[in-house]
Amino acid sequence: MSVLIKGGYVVTQNANRLILQTDVLIEGNRIEKVGSHAGECDHIIDASGKLVIPGLINLHGHVSMAAMRGIADDLPFEEFLKRTFTADAKQTDEGVLEGARLGCAEMALSGTTSFLDLYYSQDQIAKAAEELGMRGFLAWAVLDDDKTTQKGSPIKNCEQFIDRWKGNELITPLVGPQGVYICSEETMRKARELAARKNSFCHYHLSETRKEVYAHLQETGKRPVDWLESIEFLAGGDVAAHSVWITKHEAKLLADAKVSVAHCPTSNMKLAVGGVSPVIELRELGGIVGLGTDGCASNNSLDMFTEMKVCALLHKHYRWDPAAMSAQDVLDMATIEGARALGMTDKLGSIEEGKLADIVVVDSTQIGMRPTTSENAVSNLIYSCTGRNVCCTIIDGNIVVLNGKLKNAEAEEMLETTGSTKS
Ligand SMILES: [Zn+2]
Repeated sequence: MSVLIKGGYVVTQNANRLILQTDVLIEGNRIEKVGSHAGECDHIIDASGKLVIPGLINLHGHVSMAAMRGIADDLPFEEFLKRTFTADAKQTDEGVLEGARLGCAEMALSGTTSFLDLYYSQDQIAKAAEELGMRGFLAWAVLDDDKTTQKGSPIKNCEQFIDRWKGNELITPLVGPQGVYICSEETMRKARELAARKNSFCHYHLSETRKEVYAHLQETGKRPVDWLESIEFLAGGDVAAHSVWITKHEAKLLADAKVSVAHCPTSNMKLAVGGVSPVIELRELGGIVGLGTDGCASNNSLDMFTEMKVCALLHKHYRWDPAAMSAQDVLDMATIEGARALGMTDKLGSIEEGKLADIVVVDSTQIGMRPTTSENAVSNLIYSCTGRNVCCTIIDGNIVVLNGKLKNAEAEEMLETTGSTKS
């Protein structure tokens, strides 16, 4: 199938960050041409006056928790964990699937095309992502055998999950050692060994709260990143979520090891973790930083546009410097840097010929987005836009959202009752 996106402002996110008023031609699942096109094609999307951007990459979340929206708000961190763990322990495969369908639909409708997820029962999430046509990087949660509610051994479950999904076009199965507070040294080593053996990488939580860091310091004599370095766990290509309470030395260890950080500003602020992740220092040290929403229990939204705005505002405010985190910096984190973190620089994150066709059209002709020109396009995307301005989402060359609605009628029908208020 060929798709022509005609006449929009194309925010390419290429090396020169060019914004071009032109067409984008998609052939199959690839971007065939960025430039004016007059030939035949199967489907034309009129993007005149609209913004055409690379699909957004949500670098950390628990998509299935969309079904847990609003169950644990305004609580101290420990209470929040207790409530979400209790809900998780009662979860069935069917519940995980329902939540994932809801979360995937929310992401596609708000312009996210790729997401990195950390959870158990990832087969259900893979199924939901495949049904809708989302690109999922799915890390099966690995933790100590005696601390899990999973049936069987988490590391074995993870290995089997990888074997089932390896080589899938849209799903990339990964290893998810949940965090140092619930993974012993032996579990971390097994996770690393599995990732290496399967040519995969690890995604994990890291130094989210001060309490967690001090508990680890007390137990092992080392802060989490220092400890991970000492057990030779740190490996290039991994993605660590949060990384709020890290020292400059630890930031350098992560940057040097090429471990990317998934920054989750909304979740961090809502759970009042106190610190601000040193993402500016990380970037200055050459580290890779992307952006994530975290789960719906702590964010309560999977809208990456809101996340980008919150990210920019947090760092400006914290630094007393409106230039500390620019609109362009944040857009980079949600697109090309997210692609780098996933090892997909040559395939995702920008609109360039030869890359995979993950593209979003934002209706900047709507009142809250006017006036939009190529000069203020990036500013408007970060400071004025929300996911509700997305009118079209294309993933792997397939039109998943058109005119603000899911194109897949079955998915639309299935979602009619999913997650709606139950008595
Ligand atoms: Zn998380």
